[in-house]
Amino acid sequence: MTTEATRLAYLDALGIDVFAFRETQMPHKRFAGATSADQGHEDSADTRAVEPLDWASLRQAVASCKRCPLHEGRTQTVFGVGSQTAGWMIVGEAPGAEEDRRGEPFVGRAGKLLDEMLRAVGLSRDTVFIANILKCRPPGNRDPAVAEAEACRSHLDRQIELVGPKLILAVGRIAAQRLLGSDAPVGKLRGRVHTLNKPEIPVIVTYHPAYLLRTPAQKREAWKDLCLARRVSGAHAA
Ligand code: URA
Repeated sequence: MTTEATRLAYLDALGIDVFAFRETQMPHKRFAGATSADQGHEDSADTRAVEPLDWASLRQAVASCKRCPLHEGRTQTVFGVGSQTAGWMIVGEAPGAEEDRRGEPFVGRAGKLLDEMLRAVGLSRDTVFIANILKCRPPGNRDPAVAEAEACRSHLDRQIELVGPKLILAVGRIAAQRLLGSDAPVGKLRGRVHTLNKPEIPVIVTYHPAYLLRTPAQKREAWKDLCLARRVSGAHAA
């Protein structure tokens, strides 16, 4: 991680708004339908270093990553889990305490609900690939800082390239906003097909299972999102 990126990560973690500065630093748009400068991210040496990596090297690069201050507090990195040739890729926010301990995404209560949601559309943890925007746990389970997500982004991008999914399901606000480079609320991002480009992959947004545990009435809406995702990815998603 560059000194500048480290500075931005700390400022962001402190709640200091560095948005305007980043906009001038990273003007290029990475995703179709872009609405925020957040979606541009540096074509840095770090990014370029990850691009050609195969699974084993990428896993190793993530395990030893020190691009942002989160490495100081982690028990271990949480790389991701599932099929390397999955039709669906699930992208969440960041590891929580349990995930940090076990090294696997979505293993707590929210993870159980995610498993059920997948089962409802005939999929499982083994047939999709599950990853997070961040590979390290933010302290106290706070929201990931924008600079942390940017520092981690090339890892996720390379995972997406290696899996080559037919569809990405972004679960929750942070995953959706960071993935799509938007600051719109989840409610506005749901219900339509977004496109990630380079490579071009449809993205469907749904509620985070932790939110659904707190607000079960919204499960009906999440079900609609899953049905949309199933339609978009075709009959043979897995
Ligand atoms: N929430 C997430 O977004 N990801 C996890 O891995 C666990 C909880």
